[in-house]
Amino acid sequence: MKVLVINCGSSSLKYQVLDMTNEVLECKGLVERIGMDGSVITHEKTGIDKFRDVTPMADHKDAIGHVLAAIQDPEHGVVKDMKEIGAVGHRVVHAGEKYAKSLLITDDVIKALEECTQLAPLHNPPNLLGIAACQELMPGTPMVGVFDTAFHQTMPPESYIYAIPYEFYQKHGIRRYGFHGTSHRYVAERASDILNVNLDDLKLITCHLGNGASVSAIKRGRCIDTSMGFTPLEGLVMGTRSGDIDPAIVTYMRECENLDQGVANEILNKKSGVLGISGISSDFRDLEAAAEEGNERAQLALKVFAHKVRFYIGAYIAEMNGCDAIVFTAGVGENDIGMRDIICNDLGNLGIKLDVVKNRVRGKEAIISRDDSAVKLILIPTNEELMIARDTKDIVEGVKIKQNRY
Ligand code: ADP
Repeated sequence: MKVLVINCGSSSLKYQVLDMTNEVLECKGLVERIGMDGSVITHEKTGIDKFRDVTPMADHKDAIGHVLAAIQDPEHGVVKDMKEIGAVGHRVVHAGEKYAKSLLITDDVIKALEECTQLAPLHNPPNLLGIAACQELMPGTPMVGVFDTAFHQTMPPESYIYAIPYEFYQKHGIRRYGFHGTSHRYVAERASDILNVNLDDLKLITCHLGNGASVSAIKRGRCIDTSMGFTPLEGLVMGTRSGDIDPAIVTYMRECENLDQGVANEILNKKSGVLGISGISSDFRDLEAAAEEGNERAQLALKVFAHKVRFYIGAYIAEMNGCDAIVFTAGVGENDIGMRDIICNDLGNLGIKLDVVKNRVRGKEAIISRDDSAVKLILIPTNEELMIARDTKDIVEGVKIKQNRY
């Protein structure tokens, strides 16, 4: 079965077609500037040059129309007819407490996701627009929703309840949800394959370190804690997000600078993190270059980032009473040799010993711990699209998916 994977943002859209008979990526692409001047689609058939087409796209339906045309293009396409696409897998950010696993999209599911919009006002609406457009343009093709929050629904209440009056949870759903679930689940499953140990027998810490970053504690295949919370702002220091801060800072900052709520939000989400500390960039490559040249704020930003990752690793080892393996994934986790080195430095008493030679690797699966390290350190490039396509195929073919290990 060929599966089309759609990941819709507010003005951009990523897609892939995978042949799931052998899990081969056939083509992928990106639509940018939807509903703006200069809408553009970049499409790449595996093994063939990319093409880029600047063409007006008024809305998500228009954008999906161009995606479907690219997929069927005589030269760059991968199908002759859309009937060859057996199903569409949609990335959806927030399913609240409603869904703990991926599922077939029905009218009831759409209604439930609309109800979650309040929890993810920036993400769920474009996700839903993508679903609606596909349903209109590909009538009869089954659609599956794969939710970022689903994997974390196994967290016990002591991990997800905030110590604020309980009514805020009951009335408004204010609790920790966690994000990046599809990535954490994918790398956990890969770690189990690489170590050749059943997930049920593993305690894992998965570090998704990209522009957005989160850590999860995964015991026997179930997420028991994760660093992002009610929104993706909580937890690690990120490219531009603050991560954990004393909540009193928000009020104080607003008073000091006479900021309205929107501006304060923008500061915490877009102007903080390593960008905020360094004043240079959210990109770790820029920070490392600056740090190398002696820029102290870039050096500090990198240290603060690493400090927080180490903080969560320590916490999750305590929560799980041990850990068999720590996984590094996403842009920084997969590529930043120096950052992995700082994170793993001097943790020998916890059984964590990085092999500095094996650590000299980027973007491919590798065990990077020393042979005598009790905790295995593993680099695993994430592949959320493949996970979405797997769930989609399994659900459409009626296979019960393992995601929710209650
Ligand atoms: P997201 O999907 O959240 O946008 P990614 O997982 O793609 O993020 O990660 C992007 C980040 O990865 C960039 O900000 C950059 O800092 C980091 N990155 C990518 N390549 C390297 C590299 N070679 N060295 C250090 N950092 C890198």
